[in-house]
Amino acid sequence: MNHPVDIASQPPAAPAATAKKLDKLGIRRRFDLVLHLPLRYEDETHLYPIAQAPYGQAVLVEGEVTKCEVQFRPRRQLVAQIEDKSGKLVLRFIHFYPNTQQALAVGSRVRALGEIRRGFFGDEMVHPKLRAVREGEALADSLTPVYPTVNGLTQPVLRRLIHAELKALPLAETLPDELRRSLGLMPFADAVQLLHHPGPEYSATQLTDGNLPAWQRLKFDELLAQQLSMRLAYRARREGTAPVISGDGSLRSRLAANLPFALTGAQQKVLAEITADLALPHPMNRLLQGDVGSGKTIVAAMSALAAIEAGFQVALMAPTEILAEQHYLKLSAWLAPLGISVAWLSGSLRKKARGEMAASIASGEARLAVGTHALFQDDVSFERLGLVIVDEQHRFGVGQRLALQQKGAEPHQLMMSATPIPRTLAMSFYADLDVSVIDELPPGRTPIVTKLISAERRDAVVSYVNKTCGEGNQVYWVCPLIEESEALQLQTAVDTHVVLQQDLPQWRIGLVHGRMKAAEKAAVMAQFAAGELHLLVATTVIEVGVDVPNASLMVIEHAERMGLAQLHQLRGRVGRGAAKSTCVLLFETPLSELAKARLKVIYENTDGFEIARQDLNIRGPGEFLGARQSGLPMLRFADLEADIELLEAARQLAPQLLQRWPQHAHAHLVRWLAGREHFLKA
Ligand code: ADP
Ligand code: MG
Repeated sequence: MNHPVDIASQPPAAPAATAKKLDKLGIRRRFDLVLHLPLRYEDETHLYPIAQAPYGQAVLVEGEVTKCEVQFRPRRQLVAQIEDKSGKLVLRFIHFYPNTQQALAVGSRVRALGEIRRGFFGDEMVHPKLRAVREGEALADSLTPVYPTVNGLTQPVLRRLIHAELKALPLAETLPDELRRSLGLMPFADAVQLLHHPGPEYSATQLTDGNLPAWQRLKFDELLAQQLSMRLAYRARREGTAPVISGDGSLRSRLAANLPFALTGAQQKVLAEITADLALPHPMNRLLQGDVGSGKTIVAAMSALAAIEAGFQVALMAPTEILAEQHYLKLSAWLAPLGISVAWLSGSLRKKARGEMAASIASGEARLAVGTHALFQDDVSFERLGLVIVDEQHRFGVGQRLALQQKGAEPHQLMMSATPIPRTLAMSFYADLDVSVIDELPPGRTPIVTKLISAERRDAVVSYVNKTCGEGNQVYWVCPLIEESEALQLQTAVDTHVVLQQDLPQWRIGLVHGRMKAAEKAAVMAQFAAGELHLLVATTVIEVGVDVPNASLMVIEHAERMGLAQLHQLRGRVGRGAAKSTCVLLFETPLSELAKARLKVIYENTDGFEIARQDLNIRGPGEFLGARQSGLPMLRFADLEADIELLEAARQLAPQLLQRWPQHAHAHLVRWLAGREHFLKA
């Protein structure tokens, strides 16, 4: 590339106040203005006589103001009337400024752009876009772009800034010509010019169609930048150094001999992938995916032992106290018989206990430390940390993971997730990781039967709970998620506990919710796990990781309020033992169409990946990425479902470009991601 990138990287030439607003839009460099593309287009190329203007679409009309007044009923509003030769039209403004009123002074001539509706007092336009004009003033000859903006930054200002940069900046091509042609993509400069300045031959529908070649080019470029940066991050990691960890297998075989089950083929396969990574001299960054109940914990334990055998320490971090505690109990039960000391660290430990734990981690006495994010606070240091395992990784922010990583000189990292990531997402947002998938459930599970039951039939459900407890199995009763108010959610759980206790006096019923102290929660969970409680009333705190194989029934209230991934996670708490398990989804009527569609998905599917795929269709990618999205450049133009072919093409092109045209690759990255690359290292 001969073009200097420096001009394009300069901050936009705008007064400080404007620059601040541009910054909110993510526009920090002059070139960002070029990449700030229209949301939609307005048609000001055609003037309709008022009486002939069609309904149901935005139209431009022009007339003389014949009336203008502020009315106070039913609420304060500005009502004006314009007239042309063909007819009259009311213009109504609920929000208005003095300058709107000035522009509508009786006798002035205005153009109004908006949709005409039949109002009570005749045809009207509500909040039209308004412009004072001279009679006979020329119309626009092409559609007018409308840009995403923030309060106080008007379209004309934004348009002027963008158009100035389109003229001033070199819109250099970042793809080698032969590649661009073979991919059937239009030149970059043509694409941005067209989208910012469409020719008169384009209609608004054409211009907002994602299949328009100009959009295809921009989407491709965006996806390519993402793929390039992921590959670079991947490469950088492979160039880093980490301890070579290769244990003799002695601890692992002793644990295996103590287990009441044999590892499944899928568990053995992922374990082999992990241990092979650990034995390499650069940091592992592997995502272990497995549906709920697929048995990730034992894989984590075996991986930890591989590191411990070789003389390293291991940290296992979980997102909630309940989950961390469960892991601690399970792992100590497995590891203590092998003579391995496991430390427990959480935010709720008293100062003295915490000090002792931290000391045993620092001295190296504890070979495994299990805990919440308390593990990476400043007062915790490891003697020789070799492996970090993060459970439910999507719940942690990039920063938190980085902090733990920095505790060891680049330890290996294993992240575990039960939220199945659809293939398209994995390909784009997780392309810098290696992924292992446990694609088989342990044997002997009976499939969970899901029932959808209206809340009106709660009594029948309560008798079913009674019957289940009578058969010696345990039950979860999950209270609704109340997003608006945590206090209300808590209250609901407390009330439900009271009511169920009255309905089912013969059974012991526990309660666990997010506001309880960690130790109290842990005590209740331990009682439930030990079978001392028959029924556990819980808020969604039990969503992740809890493992009580004797629980065979789960009742979820207000299931229609929960996300599909969440329902799938919750449901995965049962069906872990040999007993036939049931999940009852109680819903309130009437159900919206969307709620019906979602419940149908969870009713018909038990495979987490399929649920995730359908969920992605319904909700978009945000939820899956969790904290990851805050660190990664999100896609503005491309759509992961609709543009899967472009994504695939970008994925294939990225390594070629880096290999054979490194300068092009560099220029492309600078153009799209300048200043944001550092996030990718996380
Ligand atoms: P998750 O992947 O959801 O974290 P867990 O690790 O909690 O799943 O495992 C779920 C249950 O399956 C646990 O009770 C665990 O002991 C059991 N389990 C794991 N692996 C096997 C196996 N190979 N055979 C039988 N049971 C297993
Ligand atoms: Mg788990």
